Amino acid sequence: MIADNHNHFVECGDAVAMARAGERAGLAEMALTEHVHHLTDALERIPALRRIPPEGPALSQEAYVTEVGRAQAAVGIRVGVGIETEFMPDSEATARGLAAFLADTRNAWDVVIGSVHLLADEVFLEDVDDADPDGAWRDYGERLLASIRSEAYDVIGHPTRLAVVGGPVPERAHTLMDELALAAVRHDVALEVNAVDLRAQPALVHRLISCSAARGAVLSLGSDAHAPDRAAAALAAPAALRDAGVSEVATFVGGGRRMMPLGPPRHLDTTKPRH
Ligand SMILES: [Zn+2]
Ligand SMILES: [Zn+2]
Repeated sequence: MIADNHNHFVECGDAVAMARAGERAGLAEMALTEHVHHLTDALERIPALRRIPPEGPALSQEAYVTEVGRAQAAVGIRVGVGIETEFMPDSEATARGLAAFLADTRNAWDVVIGSVHLLADEVFLEDVDDADPDGAWRDYGERLLASIRSEAYDVIGHPTRLAVVGGPVPERAHTLMDELALAAVRHDVALEVNAVDLRAQPALVHRLISCSAARGAVLSLGSDAHAPDRAAAALAAPAALRDAGVSEVATFVGGGRRMMPLGPPRHLDTTKPRH
């Protein structure tokens, strides 16, 4: 049983179906954490967010919270309401707008994920220059470390994502995982084990897990599912966590963090007597 702290529904258009799929797959808790650029309230205040291609129709914060409430009412597991926001420090106006939006809405969210999707010159991770992986990872690493130091987020989203979408993975990427773990401890932020990245780049995600275990950094699990058929993908993570000696993961309520024991491996469940 795990808490899955990172999921979306604007792309598939059905929060209830996402929650039902998560419950059916065996999640103990689930959070819906839509991108900040899918909220009209944020788009109105932060024009730069309009440059990020939407995955579906934007909705007001009120409508978003209502949709998550409908999902919560449809299932027997807790469904948290969160947000995945952008770390965009290059433009002062954008950074200030994002910080102000977060400050004004903080009480609305169970969990705030801070993610780096853009590098220098607003280049998306998907579009980085394959010819200079070291340069891309230096930029990515500096942004991730700065996002940790900001202490603005509960979770640093997918700190391994550049390995999935951005070409060759240099040695620098592996050394970065230890730097992130150290910084996460110092600034009391959880690092995300992202199921998309775990599937595509297991070696680097295992490195993140082992460094976090060694340094004592808190880990948060996220499926990052955008459709019901990918819900609960984070259930693939506990095996790797147990191998590294990690026995608990983070869950969030009202912005407060608590630790949830991973419990015994799932295959033991099948030995239970049937009723
Ligand atoms: Zn993301
Ligand atoms: Zn996401």
